[in-house]
Amino acid sequence: MKKLAILGSTGSIGMQTLEICRNHPELVVKALAAGSRIDLLESQIREFAPELVCVFKEEAARELAVKVADLPVRIVSGMEGLIETAASSDADILLSAVVGMVGIQPTIAAMKAGKDIALANKETLVTAGHIILPLAKECGARLLPVDSEHSAIFQCLQGNQGNSIAKILLTASGGPFRGKKKEELVNIRPEDALKHPNWSMGAKITIDSSTMVNKGLEVMEACWLFGVKPDQIQVVVQPQSIIHSMVEFEDGAVMAQLGTPDMKLPIQYALYYPERKYLPGKRLDFYDLTEIHFEKPDLQNFPGLALAFDAFCCGGSMPTVYNAANEWAVAQFLQRKIGYLTIAESIQAAMEQHSVKKDPDVEEILVTEKETYEFLNRRYGQGIL
Ligand code: NDP
Ligand code: MG
Repeated sequence: MKKLAILGSTGSIGMQTLEICRNHPELVVKALAAGSRIDLLESQIREFAPELVCVFKEEAARELAVKVADLPVRIVSGMEGLIETAASSDADILLSAVVGMVGIQPTIAAMKAGKDIALANKETLVTAGHIILPLAKECGARLLPVDSEHSAIFQCLQGNQGNSIAKILLTASGGPFRGKKKEELVNIRPEDALKHPNWSMGAKITIDSSTMVNKGLEVMEACWLFGVKPDQIQVVVQPQSIIHSMVEFEDGAVMAQLGTPDMKLPIQYALYYPERKYLPGKRLDFYDLTEIHFEKPDLQNFPGLALAFDAFCCGGSMPTVYNAANEWAVAQFLQRKIGYLTIAESIQAAMEQHSVKKDPDVEEILVTEKETYEFLNRRYGQGIL
C-alpha cells in the first residue's frame, strides 16, 4: 500500500493521478487540495475518502464543509491549510500539481515531514531550487519528476548513475504557433493559444507552451534536478511529441525515452518508482510513425526561452522574477487585459529593472514575487493579482 497526498487534485495532472489511483487500489488517497472547485472536490472526497482536504479559498472551504458534513473528513483552507495537507497526513508521498509559486511552502513542509515528492509543479523548482535540492538531501526525501521531459531524462539515467551527463536534449513540441513570426502573433487571442497540438493540460501551462516559456521553465527545472549547467541543455523541437527527451553521455551515446503523449506514464512512474506497472493506452507503432522530425527553437519570435537561460545564468532571485512576471502576464492575457506578445515583453521588462538578491530565502522569494507584480501593475496600469 502506498499513501498519497495530492495538491491540485481538480486540475489536469491531479485528475489523471486520481485515474491511476482508481486503477490501482493499493494507492490510497489520504489528503487532497484544490483552489476553489468544490463540486469536483466533493465527488473526489466521496470516491476516495481522504481524511484531510484543503480548499485554498476560505469561503469555498466553508461551503464544502457543509456539503460533506456526513463524512469523516476535515476541511482546512488558506496557505496554512495547504501546508497542513501536504505535511500532516500519514501519506508517504506528496504529488504536487498545483499551478504556480503557491507550491513552494507546502513542498518544503512535506519534505521536512519525511515525505517523498512527486513534482509536477515546476514553478517551485524554478524559484526555489536552491532551497529544495539541498533540503531533499538533508531530509532524505526523493524528488521524483512528473513533468514528461524530466521523467524521460530520469528514465534515461536509470542504470547510468555515476556516468556524467554530457548534454541533455530537452524536446519541445514548439506549440500551436511554431513557424509563425512576431507580426502573425500580435493578435493571438486566449482561445487560439489554449489549443495545444499534442497535450491536453491546464490553461496556464498551455499558454506557457505556446510562448515557449514552458520550455524555459523546464530548462531551469532540469538544471536543478539533474545538476547540469544551462550550456549542457540543448532544446530540440520535435513537433510530434514522441521523444520525450534524451541524454547524451560522455562517450557520445544518446539515450531517449519515447512513447505516445500521455501524462499518466510519468505520473505513474513517479508514484511507483523504480517499478513499472501496466498502463492501458495506445502504444507507439513504428510502422505508422513514418517520420520524427527535429528543428532548432525559434528564439527570435519566441524570446521567452532565451530569457529563461538569462534568468538562470543570472541566478539568485532572477528566476523568481522570470516566473512571477510570466504568472502575472498569463493571468492578464487570459483576462484579455494584455496582448500575446506582451507576455514575453513583461518578463523582459521585469528582469531588466530587478536588482538580484543572491541566495534568497523563501520570504525573499515571496517578496520578489510581490515586487514583480507591483512593478508590472504600475507599468501596464492593471490592478489584478
Ligand atoms: P490545472 O490548471 O489543470 O490545475 C491546477 C490545480 O491547482 C487545480 O486543482 C487548482 O484548483 C489547483 N490550485 C490552483 N491554485 C491553488 C491554490 N492557491 N491552492 C490550492 N490549489 C490550487 O494545472 P495542470 O494540472 O495543468 O498543472 C499543474 C502543474 O503541473 C503546473 O505547475 C504545470 O506546469 C505542471 N505540469 C502540468 C502538465 C500537464 O500536462 N497538465 C505537464 C507537466 C507539468 P481549482 O481547480 O479548484 O482551481
Ligand atoms: Mg513538460
